[in-house]
Amino acid sequence: TPSTITPGAPCPSIIHLKRDHHLALAVKSTPTEGPPPILQTRFGEFPHASFAGIPYGSQVRARTTPKTANAGRKRKRAAVAADSSSSPSTPAAESGGDKAEEAGAAGSGFVHVLAPTAELWTASLPHRTQVVYTPDSSYILHQLGVRPGSVIIEAGAGSGSFTHAAVRAAYSGYPDGRELEEGEKPRASRFGKVWSFEFHEERAGKLKEEIAAHGLDGLVQITHQDVCKNGFLVPGEEPVSPKANAVFLDLPAPWLAVPHLTRSAPPSTDPTTPISFISPLDPNTATRICCFSPCMEQVTRTVASLRAHGWTSITMLELQHRRLEVRRQQARGYSEGASARTLSEALSRLVTVNALRDARRDDQLAQNKQEKASGKLAQLLDENKETYHSKQGPRKETDPDEGRLVTRNEAELKTHTSYLTFATLPRAWSKEDEEAAMREVQKIS
Ligand code: SAM
Repeated sequence: TPSTITPGAPCPSIIHLKRDHHLALAVKSTPTEGPPPILQTRFGEFPHASFAGIPYGSQVRARTTPKTANAGRKRKRAAVAADSSSSPSTPAAESGGDKAEEAGAAGSGFVHVLAPTAELWTASLPHRTQVVYTPDSSYILHQLGVRPGSVIIEAGAGSGSFTHAAVRAAYSGYPDGRELEEGEKPRASRFGKVWSFEFHEERAGKLKEEIAAHGLDGLVQITHQDVCKNGFLVPGEEPVSPKANAVFLDLPAPWLAVPHLTRSAPPSTDPTTPISFISPLDPNTATRICCFSPCMEQVTRTVASLRAHGWTSITMLELQHRRLEVRRQQARGYSEGASARTLSEALSRLVTVNALRDARRDDQLAQNKQEKASGKLAQLLDENKETYHSKQGPRKETDPDEGRLVTRNEAELKTHTSYLTFATLPRAWSKEDEEAAMREVQKIS
C-alpha cells in the first residue's frame, strides 16, 4: 500500500465512518468536464479531490456550504437521504439548490481515510455471499499453520473475504526482505500463494477484477471450477497442481471435495487401465485442512469423509466471539462500602425507632421521652443534613483506578459463526524417504 492516496488508482481506500461502518472507495480523479465525483455520506459530502494526495490515517472534514435557518431539520433529512455510496454530484448540488443546503447542514461532519488491510476489506467489501469474518479467519489461519510462504487452497471463494486474509498471511514479500517500490507489483512468486476456486462464474469474474485492482495478481489465482466434481488441479495444457500445504473449504458439501484431496490415486476398479494421478497437495509437508460448515449434519458427513481418506487429528469447534466492555463502576449507594452518609442515616433511623418504641411502652415517661426523641431526631437530621451536603459537594472527576471492575457484553459484532472442523493429512512417507532419513541420522551421529 502506498503511503498517500492517488486518485485514479484502482485499489480502494477505506472510509471510516464509525467503528462498525466502513466504505471502500476507489478515489477518482476530477474530470476536466462534467461534475466532480463526490462521496455522499450521512456525515456530509466529500469531493474525491479532498482525499487526493493526503496520507492514509488523515481526518477529512465534510464540504461546508452556508447553513440555513432551518438547518437542524434539514440535517435530519440529509442524514436519511444521503446514501453511503460514491456518486457524482447531483445537478441540484451543483446548482447550490436544496441538496447543497442539506450538505451544508451536515458539513461539520468528518471521516477518516484508512489504508486498505485484509480486516478493513472484510468490513467494507461488497457482499455477494455470506463471508468469513476476521475472528474466524484469523483463528483458522493460525490453526492451519499458515505463515509467509504457505500455499493455500481455498474453495469457494465467494466474496473474497477469506481470500484477502489468507493472502496477507501467506505473502512472504521478497526473500531479501526488500519493500516494494512505489507502483511495483508483487512478483508472482513461489513464496506464498492462494489458489482459489469458485464455481459461480459471475462471482469468480468479479473476484478476479478485485484481486487485480488490489495488486494481488499472481499471489492469488482464481479458477472458475466445481471442486466437488473436478477437484483442485488448475486446467491448462497440463493440469497444474497447487502443491498446497493448507486447505480451507467453505462449501455446502465439503465431503464431496475431500476425496480429491489425497496423495495417491484411488484404487482402480479396472486394473488394466492405469490412472494418471497428480495430487493437489505438497508431497513434502503435512497438509492441514479446515472445513467451515454451519450445521452439525454437514460436520458429521465431512468428518466421515476425512476419516475415510486418511486424515488424522480431527477436531471440531465453534468460535463464540464476544466483545466485552470493561469499565470501572464508581462507588455509589449501599453496595459500595457504606459511605459516611449512609451510615449516619441508618443510625439516625435506629435511634428514632428505639426511642418511639420505648415511649409507647412506658406511659409515664411517654411525654418526656417523646420530647427527647424528637429532640434527638431533629439533632440527627441536622447533622445528617451537613454530612449529606458535604458528601454531595461538587461532582468529583472519575478516577480511572477507583471502583470495581465490571464487564458487560457489547452489542453483537458481525460474525457468521460456523463449526470449524480441522484435520491433518500426514505427508507421504516412502521406503526411499525412510532410507534418506536414516542416512541423515547416521551423518549426525
Ligand atoms: N469464504 C467466502 C468469503 O469469505 O467470502 C465465502 C464463501 S460462500 C459462503 C460459498 C461459495 O462456495 C459460494 O460462492 C459458492 O458459489 C461456492 N461453491 C459452492 N459449491 C462449490 C463447488 N462445488 N465448487 C466451487 N465453488 C463452490
